[in-house]
Amino acid sequence: MLISLGESVERREIQAYVRPGPDGRTTVVLGGFHGDEPKSVSLARSLIDRLRDDPSIGIDTQWIIVPIVNPDGFERRRRRNANLVDLNRNFPTQNWTQGSKRSRMYGGPEPASEPETNIVITLVERYAPERIVTIHSISGGRECNNFDGPGEEIARAMSEHNSYPVAGSIGYPTPGSFGTWAGVERGIATITLELPAAHSTARCWADNRAALVDPFCAYANTQA
Ligand SMILES: [Zn+2]
Repeated sequence: MLISLGESVERREIQAYVRPGPDGRTTVVLGGFHGDEPKSVSLARSLIDRLRDDPSIGIDTQWIIVPIVNPDGFERRRRRNANLVDLNRNFPTQNWTQGSKRSRMYGGPEPASEPETNIVITLVERYAPERIVTIHSISGGRECNNFDGPGEEIARAMSEHNSYPVAGSIGYPTPGSFGTWAGVERGIATITLELPAAHSTARCWADNRAALVDPFCAYANTQA
C-alpha cells in the first residue's frame, strides 16, 4: 500500500510504499535524495514493482520504500531542494555545518530546517528500521556500497551481487549526512548505494535487482 508522509517545500506529496512483514524487522529504502540522480528513483520504483509482482520474495522483512525524498529537486533535475539546501547535509548530527549557501552541499540555515529532512526523521523514528539503504549515483568510477554504523556485513553481501566495492567512507567529509545521522549516531545498519552514473538505468537495475532484496532478508536464526 502507498501512504503519504507529508509534503515538500513546494507542497508536493512525499509517498512511501509499505509492504508488511515480520514484527521488528523493517528495511527502509530511500531514493531521490538528490534530484539530479534519477537512477535512484528508477531503482526504488523497480524494487516496488518487483515486490508487488512477486509476493514470494523479500518476505523476511517489512519494506518501507520512499522513491522520491526530494520531489522539488527531482522536478527540476537539481541536486538540492526548493530552498537550495542539500538534504543529505541537513540532518541534525553532531558534525552538522551550515556551509556556503552557494555550495551544492549547503547544509541549510539550521539542522533539520527542511520539511523533507523532517519527513525522513519521522519515518525512521516511527518504523525503527533495522536496515536502511539510501540510493544515490556518482561519477568517475566511484560506485560503491558505502556503509555507516553496523552495515558492513550487508554492504559485503550487496557487493556479491552488484560487484561494487565496499567502502567505509565515501572519501570526503559529509557533515549532516543521513548516513551519519542514522548509521553512526543511531546505530542503524545504513547503506549508501552509490550507483555508477555512467551505467544505464537498465544496467543498474540488472546489477542491483538481487542486491536490493537478498541481503536485506538474510537474518541469522536467533530463535531458541
Ligand atoms: Zn546523491
